[in-house]
Amino acid sequence: MSQNADAERVPMPSFLGIPEHAMRKNTFFSQFLRKSRRAYFAMFHGKYVRQNIAVNRDGDCHRCGACCKLLYNCPFLGHDSQSLPYCRIYGDLRPGACKNYPFDRVDSEIEQCGFKFK
Ligand code: SF4
Repeated sequence: MSQNADAERVPMPSFLGIPEHAMRKNTFFSQFLRKSRRAYFAMFHGKYVRQNIAVNRDGDCHRCGACCKLLYNCPFLGHDSQSLPYCRIYGDLRPGACKNYPFDRVDSEIEQCGFKFK
């Protein structure tokens, strides 16, 4: 079945009315806002998240591990014998906020990330 992704386009939901530019700054507080937004959207806006990943995200994860060190080092971040980062709970236990990173242009905060948005 062919589906037109634009037919049911879910608009970007608001996050507590906070303007996008306030979340895009390179400050500790902006990182905190984006991380909170990520968890909030994973819980309450799954349809928007899934659609935006499917329609607007290009690229791949190249395992830099930078997203696992935002604000703090994730306790599940491991390193293999070649010092490459990996998730020790990768799979069903991995939180939705991690599975979906990055899901839109506001969420994408790491310049070297392999994922880009249209
Ligand atoms: S920052 Fe991007 S490329 Fe790096 S590990 Fe996270 S998702 Fe993958």
